[in-house]
Amino acid sequence: MLVRPRNTEIIHIVRTHMASFVDFHARSVNDRDAFWAEQAKLVDWNVAPKQVCDYSNPPFAKWFVGGETNLCHNAVDRHLKDRADQAALIFVSTETDQEKTYTYRDLHAEVQRMAAILRDLGVLKGDRVLIYMPMVAEAAFAMLACARLGAIHSVVFGGFASHSLATRIEDASPKVIVSADAGLRAGKCVPYKPLLDEAIKLSAHKPTNVIMVNRKLAEFTPVPGRDLDYDTERVKHMDAVVPCEWVESTHPSYTLYTSGTTGKPKGVQRDTGGYTVALAASMPYIFEGQPGGTFFCTSDIGWVVGHSYIIYGPLIGGMATILYEGLPIRPDGGIWWRLVEKYKVNVMFSAPTAIRVLKKQDPALLSKYDLSSLQALFLAGEPLDEPTAKWISEGLNGKAIIDNYWQTETGWPILSICNGVEKAPSKFGSPGKAIYGYSVKLVDDQTGEELLGANQKGVLTIEGPLPPGNLQTLWGDDDRFVKTYWKTVPGKLVYSTFDWAVRDEEGYYFILGRTDDVINVAGHRLGTREIEESISSHPNIAEVAVVGVADQLKGQVAMAFAIAKDSSGLTELAARLKLEGEVMKVVDAQLGAVARPSRVFFVTALPKTRSGKLLRRAIQAVAEGRDPGDLTTMDDPTALQQIAELIKG
Ligand code: ATP
Ligand code: MG
Repeated sequence: MLVRPRNTEIIHIVRTHMASFVDFHARSVNDRDAFWAEQAKLVDWNVAPKQVCDYSNPPFAKWFVGGETNLCHNAVDRHLKDRADQAALIFVSTETDQEKTYTYRDLHAEVQRMAAILRDLGVLKGDRVLIYMPMVAEAAFAMLACARLGAIHSVVFGGFASHSLATRIEDASPKVIVSADAGLRAGKCVPYKPLLDEAIKLSAHKPTNVIMVNRKLAEFTPVPGRDLDYDTERVKHMDAVVPCEWVESTHPSYTLYTSGTTGKPKGVQRDTGGYTVALAASMPYIFEGQPGGTFFCTSDIGWVVGHSYIIYGPLIGGMATILYEGLPIRPDGGIWWRLVEKYKVNVMFSAPTAIRVLKKQDPALLSKYDLSSLQALFLAGEPLDEPTAKWISEGLNGKAIIDNYWQTETGWPILSICNGVEKAPSKFGSPGKAIYGYSVKLVDDQTGEELLGANQKGVLTIEGPLPPGNLQTLWGDDDRFVKTYWKTVPGKLVYSTFDWAVRDEEGYYFILGRTDDVINVAGHRLGTREIEESISSHPNIAEVAVVGVADQLKGQVAMAFAIAKDSSGLTELAARLKLEGEVMKVVDAQLGAVARPSRVFFVTALPKTRSGKLLRRAIQAVAEGRDPGDLTTMDDPTALQQIAELIKG
């Protein structure tokens, strides 16, 4: 039986039942199965689910048990009936000056070609395929082709070098790897092939084959018998017909590693049915994306945001999605807005770090293009500080700026404004309220007690079962899944996000930082993020990282590493000391002398992960003269060296 309802009808039905977001959320938690059974109708099933949620073995949740579906069918094939000639994938590279639009019909053909190549190489349901690719259309074809075959993809961010890649090859043990000769960054060629060859050498597991997309950017020597040229294989399969493999709802669709901000990255494993439903529902309720509209997510396919909102979410929702290779400021800081105008983008999704980059550009670029199609800009991945939120909101003439809080683990947002359910204002500094499906609780980390009052600071936890689309487990490591996430709150089996938060009277949450970012100064527990916020309010501070450093007298003291907006005078010691003194005064006035950093050092860059998250643990280790540990996800190593040199003094 193929259950194929029209999206719009279902949403209409749901809306007539639901009066307000509060009711909508309450029903999603209190009448969970009925709520999600309704959402399940947003997607096609080959066999309808028999049970909505099986939580008989907590914390392992199984969604839509007995159902059979396919992620690629829901993202591509089912749209052929109504929108075959509509744009599906818009590839834009400002690095190679290419723009190419694939309709749903084109995408369907390309995905089948890629699937045929993989099938010929023996890739079957459940086999792993590792994708190590720059932001090119073929990366999307490869992901969708895996989903089509029921193979499990593991996309590794193209910026990672051999060591990080090798650990992921070993963990996923892929039959096939899909890669490319090179990527480009700011016009510079980044060869992938030597890194891949080195990684395969380092890994105990060896793939049978490597499919090479040759962009002709970097010379390479194929390994005979192992490496295949994508173009050569593709032309053999121009008319390929590869049917979607119907898989159980609980069949893993992919594995993906967390950013590694706090330690060794964790291999998140996602199901098929729950994920498809969660993304399908998020399009109308959270993003207000309409079939036929355009979605522009500036993330990378190597991150969870890229999986959910460059590839699967918009396509499941029948939208066109832009896959962008390039920087936000090349050829100039107006490039993204030019694309919004050209492709009539309705929904845009980016990260605060990108907006901070744009902030250094001419603000006039924000008003140069016709942005009338744009409904909202979503930002996720790290705290959206108030000055940045205000800057972009004003620059975009009051467009909705919606902060989204989520994790690789959850696959879609935990906290957000859900304008598609009920219009609500954004509050600067807050990602909004708990989204439908999430039973969010703030708890005291010492006693495990739930904090019910407003403005009480606690650890943000989620009561099981986690909603559809969230991680099923950690790949090959159920024990680590249980121990890492579910055993940290005393006396309770709840999922910990490891983030501190407060909730105001209206149910808006404010994220205060990670639980391991708390420092203890003479018995006072302080969040490093609060100190960072305070320092950022100084007019000449662009960005800052605060860490706790061991101190004989006080236990720990705060230490700050800041980037000045105008650093022209800062080569002079006197100027540095003056600015340091001013910053300390700001903290004294806002938070009290106890939070005052012992030192404020000025740097030109801060150590971050490749996805733009501050690596406080690495800074802290270096500041305390310790080994910073696993740095495989770090972007620019010179940033940490700068700090080491300042500390040595
Ligand atoms: P690891 O778990 O390996 O240390 P990571 O937590 O950085 O890495 P991600 O899953 O990419 O890996 O990031 C999720 C985290 O990012 C959240 O737990 C939170 O700390 C932070 N975060 C994401 N979105 C927001 C947001 N809107 N506001 C504040 N913090 C956010
Ligand atoms: Mg994390």
